[in-house]
Amino acid sequence: MKIAVLAGDGVGPEVVAEAVKVLTALGREGLTLEIEQAPVGGAAYDAAGDPLPPQTLELARKAEAILFGAVGGPRYDAGPRAKRPEQAILRLRKELNLFANLRPAAVFPELADASTLRPEVVSGLDILIVRELTGDIYFGQPRGIRELEGGGREGFDTMRYTESEIRRIAHAGFRAALKRGRKLCSVDKANVLETSQLWRDVVSEVGREYVAVELTHMYVDNAAMQLLKHPRQFDVIVTGNMFGDILSDEASMLTGSIGMLPSASLDENGKGLYEPIHGSAPDIAGKNLANPLAAILSAAMMLRYSLDQDRAAARVEAAVKKVLAEGYRTADIFQRGTRKVGTREMGDAVVAALF
Ligand code: NAD
Repeated sequence: MKIAVLAGDGVGPEVVAEAVKVLTALGREGLTLEIEQAPVGGAAYDAAGDPLPPQTLELARKAEAILFGAVGGPRYDAGPRAKRPEQAILRLRKELNLFANLRPAAVFPELADASTLRPEVVSGLDILIVRELTGDIYFGQPRGIRELEGGGREGFDTMRYTESEIRRIAHAGFRAALKRGRKLCSVDKANVLETSQLWRDVVSEVGREYVAVELTHMYVDNAAMQLLKHPRQFDVIVTGNMFGDILSDEASMLTGSIGMLPSASLDENGKGLYEPIHGSAPDIAGKNLANPLAAILSAAMMLRYSLDQDRAAARVEAAVKKVLAEGYRTADIFQRGTRKVGTREMGDAVVAALF
């Protein structure tokens, strides 16, 4: 199984190295992965003048899955938009048709205190948000800023979803629910938006093919509130690009630690790009301070969703739980009475906990 490793900038290479360490260690028990690295983001721009050079894209196309670190940094903020490191991710999503974004938000009991919500509200929380990634108001045409005849300007965007786009993300949501607690909540704004009315109709229709999954619908304003009030009511949430953008960040804050959260972006056949949700964290880059667990958990998602290695995935997740239970903490999740370690030491601890 061929894996493309695109580590990127800032803490990207540091955390990805630990995830690769874990994947390589699994090789001791017969899981053989062919791992190939390529530059992406600012690092690729510096080397080749392009945040996603053709060779990197080619490798990503050939691989069964992509393990991605993070891209970007203050050095690149002033450059032309098309050459910014973040373009690499947008282009990869587009070129590889990665339309389904899976964002788990789980609270490990040991870290329940890290949330800004009370531990009894979030403890045991385990949500998966499935967000449509390639359509909606972020891509709809027409869009722009125009001069009005009577003076002044007007900004406008277009919210748009085709039936087939809704159908395929609905299937992704139902499939994910089947692998988990068999509950799917579809989030929209059908009381106000036509796009959402179609969304609701199509999701309900697809739902008839998944009798084992309990489907509910919720308006996005209520969903934003319920995520704070009673987040454990949710198993899988499926929603459009903009609502998902906002809700997935809200859900991730329930866990209180950005360095712990993995994500996946999948195509129709289960090929995917796996990455921590955090960015390149330039403030702590190169200091052995970054938490590698989000990257390691991204590798676990890769094993489950693209490589069909559910047992190996569960093993990595269990190893992460074990090191947390043993008290290992990077600086971002450190509390008194626990054991502070660096990026590399955390990776080593996870590897040791695998066996
Ligand atoms: P960020 O996620 O990089 O950092 C936000 C805060 O969280 C910082 O204080 C950082 O130190 C901390 N943090 C992030 N990851 C951590 C980890 N693994 N362990 C411990 N602490 C961690 O977001 P930002 O500061 O807004 O952005 C920095 C750069 O990253 C920007 O150039 C931005 O465009 C880019 N970015 C990239 C991605 C991506 O590659 N997918 C995502 C978000 C931001």
